[in-house]
Amino acid sequence: MPLTEFLTLYPLAWVSLALVLGLIVGSFLNVLVWRLPKMLERDWRAQAHEVLGLPPEAQGEPYNLLLPHSHCPHCQQPIRPWENIPLLSYLWLRGRCAHCRSSISLRYPLTELACGLISAMVAWHFGFGWPAGLLLLLSWGLLAMSLIDADHQLLPDTLVLPLLWLGLIVNSFELLVSLKDALWGAVIGYLFLWSVFWLFKLLTGKDGMGHGDFKLLALLGAWGGWQILPLSVLLSSLVGAVLGSIMLRLRRAEVSTPIPFGPFLALAGWIALLWGGQITAFYLQFVGYP
Ligand SMILES: [Zn+2]
Repeated sequence: MPLTEFLTLYPLAWVSLALVLGLIVGSFLNVLVWRLPKMLERDWRAQAHEVLGLPPEAQGEPYNLLLPHSHCPHCQQPIRPWENIPLLSYLWLRGRCAHCRSSISLRYPLTELACGLISAMVAWHFGFGWPAGLLLLLSWGLLAMSLIDADHQLLPDTLVLPLLWLGLIVNSFELLVSLKDALWGAVIGYLFLWSVFWLFKLLTGKDGMGHGDFKLLALLGAWGGWQILPLSVLLSSLVGAVLGSIMLRLRRAEVSTPIPFGPFLALAGWIALLWGGQITAFYLQFVGYP
């Protein structure tokens, strides 16, 4: 039996495969989330030097997604392949570096686990096929963006824009919604948050969110069509408001502390993409809509 037929016939095999794939990708996302902002900063510094007519800075060692090889941040010991198995290595090493025993951040295995579970859910929801494969790609992208935004208040164009285009391309084959719905999803998604941004700025004189947020909602609209926009905005504002006020209480942070909106938007959009239809139907039933 060919593999594709096997995976179509046995959903559990497909879900398990997606889970393992997700764990491995999660391990790569840890590297991406850590290194991409540093790579971008290097680029921006080099460009700024060029624009200002300053002599270029010494470049030093190459720094990209592959080089230098992963190493312990404390003792610089290279991480060997068997210490780099998602989740299992962390458990096996009991969260400590095999060489210097300094502790490894819990964040790495948690990212791998989250990526694995998200991937399994997408596989379960869509079954084996093109929609699942592409939604996996989108989900990994959204997870990476959310983590980078949480760390740096930055949604890199290098991640957001290619995925926005991919959403339109995917829907030119009507894989999730029609191309017309996808196009208007991207346009309305961008313009909606853009308007909110300028309204807020005119009223308060402050920046309420970053431009990356407009592009992220455009991306979600490109994948799920304009239909998922209301639920995405509603859910993200709701979750953002609740978590934001908890964080302010816990940290006793000032109200002006910027809270990245990207992770909430990404999560809400992802939920709306997978279960938007059911959630809206349930809500309409709940309010007694015929
Ligand atoms: Zn070490």
